[in-house]
Amino acid sequence: MRLTPVSSILTRTISTRVNPSQPFRLATLRPVPIRPMSSFLGSLFGSSSSKSSNMSYPDQRTNDEWQAILNKEQFRVLREKGTEAPGTGKFNKHAPETGVYTCAGCDVPLYKATHKFSSGCGWPAYFDSIPGAVVRHEDRTLGMARIEIVCANCGGHLGHVFKGEGYPTPTDERHCVNSISLNFSAEDKPVEKK
Ligand SMILES: [Zn+2]
Repeated sequence: MRLTPVSSILTRTISTRVNPSQPFRLATLRPVPIRPMSSFLGSLFGSSSSKSSNMSYPDQRTNDEWQAILNKEQFRVLREKGTEAPGTGKFNKHAPETGVYTCAGCDVPLYKATHKFSSGCGWPAYFDSIPGAVVRHEDRTLGMARIEIVCANCGGHLGHVFKGEGYPTPTDERHCVNSISLNFSAEDKPVEKK
């Protein structure tokens, strides 16, 4: 079996390209197919995915499967990285002493009631999460550099985390989470296995 001599192909390609008698045709300058407008707008407004969708999560349900169990607004926020309007979420001013907030998509515990604090920002705020329950990604949509937080089990979009804002909490971090991405259970589930 003979292998194609790659180096000679490369040499030929390069010499072809630098040959002034063969200028680039316009077609060679646009090898990338033009994406549909919806996809372009999606990435512009951050509802389409960035790096995080390429990651694999333990819960690998497809969009069709998510659509079957989530309502329209939950799907928009959790699976398309949307944001609920400030001050409208059911857990914005929710302040229980005990209990656990779980992922509205896959039901995994994410935050304890004792992590929640009143930030006045219009969304539920937590200074910490249950260890390992939340994954962070860089988010450069909307012209800002933010840290997106997603459920570590299903990749569902939760919101963003901000640091160093001066809140009097143990971490000085604010997990700014959409209420619609969460459910609440008043019973403290055994979340930390040892
Ligand atoms: Zn989840």
